[in-house]
Amino acid sequence: DAPPPQSAALLARRRKSFAKPQKNYYADPPQIERGWKEHMFDVTGRSYLDMVNNVTILGHGHPKLARAAGRQWSLLNTNSRFHYAAVAEFSDRLASLAPEGLDTVFLVNSGSEAVDLALRLAWARSGARNIVSLLEAYHGWTVASDAVSTSIADNPRALETRPGWVHPVTAPNTYRGPFRGPASTADYVASVAKALDEIEQAGEGLAGFICESVYGNAGGIPLPPGYLAEVYGMVRARGGVCIADEVQVGYGRLGHHFWGFDQQGVVPDIITIAKGMGNGQPLGAVITSREIADALENEGYFFSSAGGSPVSCVVGMTVLDIMRDEALQENARDTGDYLKSRLEALGQRFPLVGAVHGMGLYLGLEFVRDRETLEPATEETAGICDRLLDLGVIMQPTGDHLNVLKIKPPLCLSRESADFFAEMLEKVLADGW
Ligand code: PMP
Repeated sequence: DAPPPQSAALLARRRKSFAKPQKNYYADPPQIERGWKEHMFDVTGRSYLDMVNNVTILGHGHPKLARAAGRQWSLLNTNSRFHYAAVAEFSDRLASLAPEGLDTVFLVNSGSEAVDLALRLAWARSGARNIVSLLEAYHGWTVASDAVSTSIADNPRALETRPGWVHPVTAPNTYRGPFRGPASTADYVASVAKALDEIEQAGEGLAGFICESVYGNAGGIPLPPGYLAEVYGMVRARGGVCIADEVQVGYGRLGHHFWGFDQQGVVPDIITIAKGMGNGQPLGAVITSREIADALENEGYFFSSAGGSPVSCVVGMTVLDIMRDEALQENARDTGDYLKSRLEALGQRFPLVGAVHGMGLYLGLEFVRDRETLEPATEETAGICDRLLDLGVIMQPTGDHLNVLKIKPPLCLSRESADFFAEMLEKVLADGW
């Protein structure tokens, strides 16, 4: 049905005043008014199942979070130069979530800021500038986090416009990359070794290596076994630091692991987090060792006006409390495993389904026109997403070919909602779009 006339007028106002490069979902979007758990409701009262919202990990409209934030707003909100309980308690809780040795926390407001700061820490600690990053990666919009972002889906000119200190290496995509399957580790490690050699041959130093610990932007593809252990070893041997970007894949979403790097059995030098840790409140953090954190003093002091504010810290701690009380990581594991098995069953029936990547509630359903050539089914994926909206499901594509459904709902997803998603997807695949 056509949206109500006032929604169309509002959309026209948005298009007039809201800068164009800020994309929006859908050509004819519903006007969303409120949310509850994994559901969103538009102004006509229609509900949608939100299967893409990787920020709102607790679900929408959580009353405990709203109360805690409101209470803190009415008490005090200021900056972290003041001494108040929340900043000490939250920093301490974040440090205790990280592996031994990563005991020092910076609080910022977004994933981009966290990645930017992590890169500055690598520069300050090493005295060098060169960073190795993966192709097909997204790490943020600020100048430095954008520099290490190589995804051509987000920026078609990304590869021509990276600054000289960024050294992108072959994306370790074991499904459609140049080397396939779990035995491809050595080939992907070799491409990192080559980049490191080139930096050395140019007589330059290495600042570090950054990647998502599960290949998120490509659709939740696990890195090949042992990849990070080998790469981290080589990077450290040359004086660089290893940054794990856990903005999307960390913080419990994988269900089986709290951190993405746990799956690879490694410990990074710097962890970046954001998104879910604030459940939508702008919140980001860098967790590292005291030694690396202190290196930033070579560049002066660090201050973020809203990073680590009392409201942000209370929100962050309340998110952790609710995750624990409602066993959301466990739900991500159980409901995620269940959903993955339902999606794999669709793969038995529909040849368009090339693979189901990921784990927990971080899944990627990749559509291909041919299972041998893996020709990406890009237009089909866009059509499927549009048809899913008609059926009441919010879903978007990801990956350089935009042929992967990025399935990352709130971690409170119920089994009933997982079934609804699988059934609507089945209907679209069976009936067409
Ligand atoms: N790193 C990764 C892996 C991300 O997915 C994103 C956001 N999509 C960012 C960093 C940037 O986070 P933010 O949008 O909070 O700045």
